[in-house]
Amino acid sequence: MAKRDYYEILGVAKGADAKEIKKAYRKVAMKYHPDKNPGDKAAEDKFKEAAEAYEILSDEQKRARYDRYGHAGVDPQAGFGGRGGGMNMDDIFANFSDIFGDSGSPFESFFGGGTRSRSRQRGQKGANLRIKVKLTMEEIAEGVTKKIKVKKQTTCDTCQGSGAKDSNSVSTCGTCKGSGYVRQVKSTFLGQMQTTTVCPTCNGGGQQITSKCTTCKGSGSNLGDETLEIEIPAGVEEGMQLSMRGKGNAGKNGGPKGDLLIAIEEAQHEHFTRDGQNVMYDLFLNFADAALGTSVEVPTLGKKVKISIPPGTQAGKIFRLRGKGIPSVQGYGEKGDQLINVNIWTPKKLSPEGKALLEKMRGLPNFTPKAGKDQKGFFARMKDYF
Ligand SMILES: [Zn+2]
Ligand SMILES: [Zn+2]
Repeated sequence: MAKRDYYEILGVAKGADAKEIKKAYRKVAMKYHPDKNPGDKAAEDKFKEAAEAYEILSDEQKRARYDRYGHAGVDPQAGFGGRGGGMNMDDIFANFSDIFGDSGSPFESFFGGGTRSRSRQRGQKGANLRIKVKLTMEEIAEGVTKKIKVKKQTTCDTCQGSGAKDSNSVSTCGTCKGSGYVRQVKSTFLGQMQTTTVCPTCNGGGQQITSKCTTCKGSGSNLGDETLEIEIPAGVEEGMQLSMRGKGNAGKNGGPKGDLLIAIEEAQHEHFTRDGQNVMYDLFLNFADAALGTSVEVPTLGKKVKISIPPGTQAGKIFRLRGKGIPSVQGYGEKGDQLINVNIWTPKKLSPEGKALLEKMRGLPNFTPKAGKDQKGFFARMKDYF
């Protein structure tokens, strides 16, 4: 299914400021909130869609990337091949607690709490892990899967991230009696109201650790190596950042994993320079080949290609190999072109024979440059090209 435009989802203009975006998101989120639409799958999808849009548009960097590259610039799913899922409800409530409150529901107090079962999330989210990946132009043209060994906080093997010494070292939280939530009765202008908040003692886990795991000293994670497989979509460019949710550092005390942020770098190519989706190549011909015509092999990002040079080819002529460039990162399948810029190579040293031949040519008819349309300079050619 094609993804909808984030601005459209929230119903704001492209130029909307942060305040307008937050306001718009709050409105949409309230409308489709699961507490208001219990069991309604369509509403849930809309709720998730809006959260995704808000996540991107409320982050200055992500928003800038989205404005420039569309969904492909910010959506790990587009590039990372069917990770599936997207945001789940817990992510949404955890990430936007400034909007939903600690308990995830602004409605809970009105409905007496506990209207929706929310899986517990305890502990602290792990830190994001940032890496740089340098890619060749060939890798960028095709897309590539990179295996990269990183140092990061990984879930403790001894305690499986619980931080407890063993199963006997865990007891039910005394504050919340294991429910993970505490209820409070508040007096408001509407009368007595019951609110539910995450238990401050156990952070919602419902359990307390009486004796800590000795390997990780109770943190639930250890510094270790992990080899990550990173699928990079074709068409990325220097300065882009991809993200993979949940591939960063392990959380503390059983909290969720952080994200992996991948900064793209481009390696210099021996033959080509890049101009967006196009690949630029400088071809050098000797004067005889340019005047007589010939056929030459030129490198491309794939196999070499033979091109024919017609007689009378001028320096600065640009040949275009359609579809031999770089695909769009948006994944529309359209590839750029390879542009071949003709240069005439002038010998620096001449043999007596070569010198004699050229001396003879110098005086021949048609060897004097003619003013007019045959003599197209650099600026005129650039005008043609654009
Ligand atoms: Zn441990
Ligand atoms: Zn508790």
